[in-house]
Amino acid sequence: MNTEKPRRRQRYHGKNPRHFSEKYKEHAPERYAEDVARVLERGRTPAGTHRPIMVREVMEVLAPQPGEVAVDCTLGYGGHAAVMLQAIQPGGRLIGIDVDPIELPKTEARLRALGFSPYTFTVHRTNYAGLARLLPEPVDIVLADLGVSSMQMDNPARGFTYKVDGPLDLRMNPQRGQPATALLASLNESALATLLLEHADEPAADRMARAILRVPISTTTQLTAVIRGSGGDDDSVRRVFQALRIAVNNEFGALDEFLRNLPLCLKAGGRVAILTFHSGEDRRVKKWFRSGERDGTYSEIAHEVVRPSAEELRANPRSRSAKLRWARAANSR
Ligand code: SAH
Repeated sequence: MNTEKPRRRQRYHGKNPRHFSEKYKEHAPERYAEDVARVLERGRTPAGTHRPIMVREVMEVLAPQPGEVAVDCTLGYGGHAAVMLQAIQPGGRLIGIDVDPIELPKTEARLRALGFSPYTFTVHRTNYAGLARLLPEPVDIVLADLGVSSMQMDNPARGFTYKVDGPLDLRMNPQRGQPATALLASLNESALATLLLEHADEPAADRMARAILRVPISTTTQLTAVIRGSGGDDDSVRRVFQALRIAVNNEFGALDEFLRNLPLCLKAGGRVAILTFHSGEDRRVKKWFRSGERDGTYSEIAHEVVRPSAEELRANPRSRSAKLRWARAANSR
């Protein structure tokens, strides 16, 4: 049982907290089980949490066994990790990775509180692109659940959400690299248009790029207003944010490096599952798995993507665009 006293909530004006930092429940969802259950019933994600996607399907294709060693490349809230850790007991070990220095310590604490010791569960704040260098030897299972977590999405200070005002940052690790504002300042119109087209298939890439570079933009809502002001709808806003996020975090570079070195990370017969959330990601996974199957690296791969069930789509709209692919390393390579 948690005996620590809840932190006194911040004072705010009016009936409900207006700013994310004043919302005490969001910072300790585990203390408010009833509220969390109510939000889940409505098909929403309680703030400060993340609901793991396609857990049953992921576990089915990975088929974890007691004693196995698994890597979760994108620990996030630790939803998949908690299920995986149970499934590989007794004797199994999970190596957890995430680039996010803000959420990672909270997730580690949450999983430790479930009783997983530093032998069973290790945590590394690093980019999964370097997985092959991190692992001392190949493992049985690798899982990657790409994109951002709901905690990252819902915290306006991080600049992922366009619904609430915040600095246009978009970094998964705010201690490294440049925020999206600096990226915008460094691009000319044609470079930005190419980025919007290649990273998010934005059909009005030229028009959007022109409008975005015409005025200085430093916050999320300023960017949203500019996109709407030049005729963009909700989908355009989503695509522009997605394109900038991919660029700011070099997401395709990381995914390609990971996929290239993945065979070195898997034992003979080892399994990998990857959840993607847009076509740029899925295309890459499909390409690398297919070429690995052709050259005998993988003995078996998913020929069709696995999609969330109707039930999950209803219960968790954030699973909407998820696609699952898996592969199995050949016994002799
Ligand atoms: N499966 C998790 C949710 C993952 S959300 C759960 O069940 O809770 C995706 C996570 O991947 C985020 O926390 C994000 O910070 C992390 N991430 C994204 N790209 C990464 C990269 N290149 N290296 C390491 N972590 C990354």
